[in-house]
Formats: sequence, C-alpha cells, structure tokens
Amino acid sequence: IEPNYIYRANKMPNDPMIAQLWGMNNFGQKDKDSAVGVKGIDIGATEAWDIETGSDNVIVAVIDTGVDYTNPDLAPNMWTNEKELNGKKGVDDDNNGVIDDIYGYNATNDSGDPKDDHGHGSHCSGTIGAKGDDGKGIVGVNWNTRIMGVKFLDSNGSGSLEGAIKAIDYASKMGAKILSNSWGGGGESQTLKEAIERSNSAGALFVAAAGNESNNNDANPTFPASYQVPNVLAVAAIDNRGQIASFSNYGKSSVHVGAPGVNILSTTTTGYEAWSGTSMATPHVSGIAALLASHEPSLTNLELKNRIITTARPIAGL
Ligand code: CA
Repeated sequence: IEPNYIYRANKMPNDPMIAQLWGMNNFGQKDKDSAVGVKGIDIGATEAWDIETGSDNVIVAVIDTGVDYTNPDLAPNMWTNEKELNGKKGVDDDNNGVIDDIYGYNATNDSGDPKDDHGHGSHCSGTIGAKGDDGKGIVGVNWNTRIMGVKFLDSNGSGSLEGAIKAIDYASKMGAKILSNSWGGGGESQTLKEAIERSNSAGALFVAAAGNESNNNDANPTFPASYQVPNVLAVAAIDNRGQIASFSNYGKSSVHVGAPGVNILSTTTTGYEAWSGTSMATPHVSGIAALLASHEPSLTNLELKNRIITTARPIAGL
C-alpha cells in the first residue's frame, strides 16, 4: 500500500535563451563574464511556474525610457488602452488628458507614444514579462502580463521631476497594480513623495531600485527608493553567487530585498543583451509581485510587499 501521489507537469517554457537566465533558474551555469553561478541563487521562477505563469488581469507600469512595444517578445504582453485602440486617431477617446495613449504615456513630450528610444525600459520590461513559451528569445517572470509603457526618461536616460510625477500619476490613474521604477537621483522632493503617496492610495505597489553607488541608504538616502511611503519596496542587486553586487546600494532598514542584478539577459531595442544594475534587480521583484497578484488577486499593495519581504530567503551575502 502506498499513497496515491499526485504528479504535475514541470512547466518549463520553450524560450530558447532560458538557460542563460540565471535569475530565473540558476543551475550553476556561467554568466556573461564566465562567473560560475551557485545553484539555487535565483528567484525560484521555475518552481513558481508550476503554480502560476501570470495573467492578463495585472497591469505593470514600467516607468522608464519607454517600451519597444513592437518587439516580438514584448508585443503580446503590452497593455492596451481599448478606448484609444478602438477610437479615433488624434482624439482623446477616453478623456484622460492624453491623445492616442494605446500602450502608455510619454511624459517627455506629453504624448501617447511611449516608444523606447534608449533600451533601458525595454530591458526592464523583458524581465517582468517577455512572452513565455512562445519559442523565441527569453521569458519574463510572467509568461503573460500587461506591461504599460510609461516614459519620462529621454533617449539619454534622464528625465525631470515633473516628468516623474506625471508618469507616476498616469500609471496610478490608469489602473497599474505594480509600478516598476529602475531610476533614481536628485534630492528629496515633497511633490514626488506626494505622487508616490497617491499611488499608494490608488492601491499600487511602488518597486524601486536601491541605486548603484555602493551606498548605505540608511545613512545617505537615495530617492525614490528611500521615500518613507508604505508602498515603496526597495531592491538591491545580487550576483549569481548570492553576493551583493559591488555597485549595489544597501541598507538594513531602508532596502527591503535583493534580487538578481548582474549580467541579466533581456530585451533591448536592438536585440538581447546582458546588463547589470539595481535597475535589473528591480524588475525581477516587480515581476514576482505581478505573478503573486495574478495568483491571489485580492492581495493589496501592502500585502504584496509584506509577502515578498517575509518569504524572501535570507542569504549570507546580504
Ligand atoms: Ca486618452
């Protein structure tokens, strides 16, 4: 006599570059710099995918340089504003103050076209939600999701305070559950803090890169990661051996989790490239939040944050 065991298919997507995605599944492969990884230093994506692979119901706003919404690995998972998609060209069909905002918003020229002219926003987007199991390229943490492109960083990767506030307000207003913020700089701003507070009131989680200055954010705050707003989740970067990345900011009380952020392969405007930064760690966490929100839609933004922090695995490197 033995138990009648239940077997499940181990869902592995067929995306050809998956073996290079150590952040999703680290089996001891080498990264781009030939550093040999430590098995299991990853976000546990393959284990999660047996339970949940994402959903069309969760909107993730990538507040960045835009998104290459024509990229075949990203296009199927773009958020679309149905009223503008089915509306009249040149008309603000949904009356939200932006004309023809089909895939998101561009605060650099106040238009409805968030096309990426840099690459950074597309790289972050790929980690969150490059289409999975489609036989091409990479897979994001979510095989299926809705990526809203919210551009306020220009082709040089820089943007203004005014643009950041407009971007955050657009994403909050248009229903994004997760706001992924791989940017920082400048000083403390009361008006930016208030925009993040509005996103908190709207029920969004504000995931923010801890920064790349090897700085202790407890001693020297880095913004927006260090704003004391309940929905801010600050992310440090680790490498494929579980060590904090040499460039990564940290902070025992001000930085909440670490995630893969060294030699991360993802989509750019010109193909696939491996990049490093807390910018690359942040979308892993935004992706996890979206996956969790897909599986448990009733979770609030603060419950998502709390679950991610409390179920993160302590590692010696942090
Ligand atoms: Ca509109």
